[in-house]
Amino acid sequence: MKKLELHWKILIGMVAGLLFGFLMKNLEQKGIVVDWIKPFGTVFINMLKMIAVPLIVVSLIVGLADLKDISKLSKLGGRTVFFYLCTTIFAVSLGLVLANVIKPGSYINEASRKSLLENFSGDASQKIELADKAKTSGPLQPMVDIVPDNFFNALSDNGSMLQVIFFVILIGIGLILVEEEKSKPVVDFFKGLNDVIMKIIDIIMLFSPYGVFALMAALMVEIPDFTTLGALAIYGLTVLFGLLIMTFILYPTLLMLFAKVNPISFFKAIAPAQLLAFSTSSSAATLPVTMECVTEHVGVDEEVSSFVLPLGATVNMDGTSLYQAVAAIFIAQAMLPYPLDFHTQLMIVVTATLASIGSAAVPSAGMVMLVIVLGQAGIPEAGLALIFAIDRPLDMCRTVVNITSDATVATIVAKSVGKLNPVKS
Ligand code: ASP
Repeated sequence: MKKLELHWKILIGMVAGLLFGFLMKNLEQKGIVVDWIKPFGTVFINMLKMIAVPLIVVSLIVGLADLKDISKLSKLGGRTVFFYLCTTIFAVSLGLVLANVIKPGSYINEASRKSLLENFSGDASQKIELADKAKTSGPLQPMVDIVPDNFFNALSDNGSMLQVIFFVILIGIGLILVEEEKSKPVVDFFKGLNDVIMKIIDIIMLFSPYGVFALMAALMVEIPDFTTLGALAIYGLTVLFGLLIMTFILYPTLLMLFAKVNPISFFKAIAPAQLLAFSTSSSAATLPVTMECVTEHVGVDEEVSSFVLPLGATVNMDGTSLYQAVAAIFIAQAMLPYPLDFHTQLMIVVTATLASIGSAAVPSAGMVMLVIVLGQAGIPEAGLALIFAIDRPLDMCRTVVNITSDATVATIVAKSVGKLNPVKS
């Protein structure tokens, strides 16, 4: 009998987890899930995160050293940044158009507005506090933040991926510049280590259906009851509609135009990563699997994927930026007596693009950065409480878009530098 493919196993784990969680919630047995099932999900996410930083370091060193030429690196970097920026700006603009046309804020009545603001004001102020910390710095702070003062500190903090990438790029450049006799043993060592890390990821993935089961069961017993959520349905659907356009129209078009890749085989190849992004809500935790899918199943050379994907996981978040645009307009429509003018909306394009770059690749980071978008546009930050209740499911969906975008750009950039070797399935 043919072995069941991994994405089917993960999907079965997901559905089974949701059903199990639903059952336990109705049997009033939440405690069992929280105490005895959820920890397996946490272990699974920890394992993925544990391997993410070593994977970035090693594969990026190998990938860069293989480039053998600095001009190739700048070509790769230039194209990657160009596509990342274009897709993000498209995403924010799409979010703004949808929110202005559908007007989700006008569907929320006074009673549900009040009850949402009351019920979730505590949660919202936690996020606002977190965002305040990010805000107190000057405009060039993001640039300063990229350069670590101690590489080992950066390595030990999953939130400092950009710093790690910065330092590793320097190592890669150094390896390209020294004579081959010196660089070869170093590169060979990292090549060996790279294979070992890939094997570890295979081992972690054996556990994925069970990890996903545990995550979904825990999610089901922990999400708030859907009482006031009716009022948020149109807002949620607007975000979802935008995310679907990105996934099923924008990326397939880009793939066909620029990479001559069949979108159906592409989606089949990255399905395990998409399912994991959905279950973990974290592009960082999904990164090891995204790397594996894109290199082994889409056929992107490791030279390209090891550079484009870790960078994308940290800075390229189309789903997040689209969500920030819709959420900002939704809150404005629900809380302000006047519509936002064109200039303010244009500013939202800029701030949401920057905010999505600055969002960490972890659950609900997009919501923290949304506070900054709201502040810039003069929209009351307390309005965050309005969207809190359905943030988790939307986070799951936007994370899928975030990693799909990374994988799409990796494929396009690989094609443009002659490093795409489509895998026959
Ligand atoms: N959870 C998202 C990610 O990791 C970020 C966000 O939108 O909150 O990609």
